[in-house]
Amino acid sequence: MALSTERPREPSSAAPEGPATPVDLHTHTSRSDGVLEPRALVEAAAAAGVRLLAITDHDTLAGLRELRAPEAPPLPAGLELLAGIELNAALETGTEVHVLGYGLDLADERLEARLEALRAERRVRFERIVARLREIGCSIDAVLAGFDLSRTEALGRPTVARALVAAGHATSVADAFERLIGRGGPAYVPHPRLDPAAAIALVREGGGLAVLAHPAEVVASRDLLADLVAVGLGGLEVYYRGYPPEVVAELASLAARHRLVATGGSDFHGDDAPYAAVARSVSVPAAAGARLVAALRDAAASPRGKGWPGRATLVRR
Ligand code: ZN
Ligand code: FE
Ligand code: FE
Repeated sequence: MALSTERPREPSSAAPEGPATPVDLHTHTSRSDGVLEPRALVEAAAAAGVRLLAITDHDTLAGLRELRAPEAPPLPAGLELLAGIELNAALETGTEVHVLGYGLDLADERLEARLEALRAERRVRFERIVARLREIGCSIDAVLAGFDLSRTEALGRPTVARALVAAGHATSVADAFERLIGRGGPAYVPHPRLDPAAAIALVREGGGLAVLAHPAEVVASRDLLADLVAVGLGGLEVYYRGYPPEVVAELASLAARHRLVATGGSDFHGDDAPYAAVARSVSVPAAAGARLVAALRDAAASPRGKGWPGRATLVRR
């Protein structure tokens, strides 16, 4: 299958739409490069029928802190929220290896300092892309001036793509990636490379469980998984939106073989379809969500019992 991990686009749905998934462990809000406010996302998820939701913004826990703040209104009834994050690492070959982290300690200052360093790199990259676009006659300066990015902590290329569409330089977010800002494009600017082992260590030192995101292409290209498990990987994203059943089955057996927690989710950013439609195009078993929650609780109860430090209770009912 040709699932590119090169750009954070919305995976397409190959399967016919069924009922909404009860569990979604991979979503983005406008605190990174998604379009929905954190509050709007939890409300949309609850309305769609999701019972266990993880927000996994890139390089920031801001949305989760807002939702869990003492003054914040309660979560929608029946919805459980897990703290998560996504870190974009890459191999020396350039192949992207995205690492999800679950169960992070929202109050860990050392973790926050490291995430802030990653966000600073994102800001530099964002400005360089904008400058490149200016040089090639596709300025988005005027459009960006009209975007409210004051609460966006982790800037990413989807925001550039949306600006290119608004400025008339691209017909869609996908078109912007394909012709202008994706790898090989005239305004492509690479990320400073974060090593996958460093991303896993960052998650673990922050009290979390590290999970390999949308792994189909990565694990098919070489036997990387054993290396990642050796440096502390604890889970595999088996039920990813758009993965056909045979890929899900193969990933599930890989997870079992390496004793990894099988997770899954929509990778919702909000460009292609409303959340309710996206939730019907992915199916993460309720049992998988329950196993992740149980693993995180075990880790929190016995810091060294499961092989990763479990300081945080990241579960809120
Ligand atoms: Zn993203
Ligand atoms: Fe990703
Ligand atoms: Fe993602």
